[in-house]
Amino acid sequence: MSPKRHLFLLAFAVLIFQGCGVDEDVVNIYSGRHYQVDENLFREFTEQTGIRVNLVKADTDQLLNRLEMEGANTPADLLITADAGRLVTASAKGLLQPIHSEMVDDLVPAEHRDPDNRWTAMTMRARVIVYHKDRVSPDDLSTYEALADPAWQDRVLVRSSQNHYNQTLMASIIAALGREDAEAWATGLVGNMARSPRGNDRDQVKAIVAGLGDVAIVNTYYMGLLRYSTNPEERRVAEQTRIFFPNQDGRGTHVNYSGIGLTKASGNIENATRLIEFMISRDAQQRLAEVNHEYPVNKEVEWPGLLRSWGNFKADELPLDQLEPYLQDAMFVFNSAGWN
Ligand code: FE
Repeated sequence: MSPKRHLFLLAFAVLIFQGCGVDEDVVNIYSGRHYQVDENLFREFTEQTGIRVNLVKADTDQLLNRLEMEGANTPADLLITADAGRLVTASAKGLLQPIHSEMVDDLVPAEHRDPDNRWTAMTMRARVIVYHKDRVSPDDLSTYEALADPAWQDRVLVRSSQNHYNQTLMASIIAALGREDAEAWATGLVGNMARSPRGNDRDQVKAIVAGLGDVAIVNTYYMGLLRYSTNPEERRVAEQTRIFFPNQDGRGTHVNYSGIGLTKASGNIENATRLIEFMISRDAQQRLAEVNHEYPVNKEVEWPGLLRSWGNFKADELPLDQLEPYLQDAMFVFNSAGWN
C-alpha cells in the first residue's frame, strides 16, 4: 500500500471515530431547575468526562408534555425536576426507566429514591414557616394546621396553588388528614391570607418585612438565597425573618425533593448514569448545599454551616413515591377552598 493510501485510510478512520464520538459523548437533559449552580456543575462534568451536556430548561409540566408527545423519539436522556410530585407523575405516565447504579444505591438512602429506582432525589428542601423576628414568637407557632386558626387572620402569606411546591405540600396534608380535613384547613388558611396569592416564595418573605403579613410558607433554600444575595435589600429581608420547622411534635415538616429520572426512551444509558452519579457525588452535593442551600441526599455529605444553624428537624416520613392519588385530590381541595 502506498504511503498516500495509508494517510487516506488513517484520515478516514479518524473521521469515523470522531463521528461516533459526537453521538456517544453527549447527554441530553430536560430540566425544570433554573439555577446557575446546575449549569456550572454540568460544565465541570463535561471537563471531567468529555461528555457534552445539552440542556433544555422549561417549566416542568411543559417538559412532561413534551416527553409524552415525543415518546420513543425524545432526545432527552434525563428529566430533572424541582419537585417530587412531578417525578412521581413522570413515573406514573411511564416516562421513566430504572437507574442502575451501585453508587447511587450506596449513597442515597432508599427512602429518597423511587422503589424501582426510576428516579432519585438529588437535593431536599423543607417547606417551612418563615416569621418576622419581632412580630411573631416561635412559641406562637406549631403546625401547618394551626395557621388556619383565627389568631392568624390576615397574617398568612403563601403563593398560588398553581405552584408545584404547594401542590406537593397539599398532597402530604391530604395523606395525613384525609381530604375532608385538608379542605377545612385550606378554607381556614385562605380566610387568614394577608392578600390573594401572588409572587414566588421569596416575594412572600419580602411581604412579611414590608408589613403585609407576619408568617409565610416557604422552601428553606430561598432563605439562604436571600441571606447571601448581592442585593442589600434582600439581605435585610433575611435578617428580619426566621425559619420555623412545623409539626415537630407530630408527623414532621414536609420535605420535598428535587430529583433526576432516566427517561424510558434513552438509549444513552451509560452517559446518563454517569451524569446522575456526578450530581450525587460528594463534590456536587457539597456545592448544591453550599451555593444553593439545599439539603444533600448523599448521606456522606455534611450540612454546611447555614443549614446547621437552622437546626435539626423531624421530617414527614410519608414516602413521596406514594403521592400520586393525593396530588390529584390536591387540585380539588385548592379549588373548593378558593386558593387560586
Ligand atoms: Fe424553587
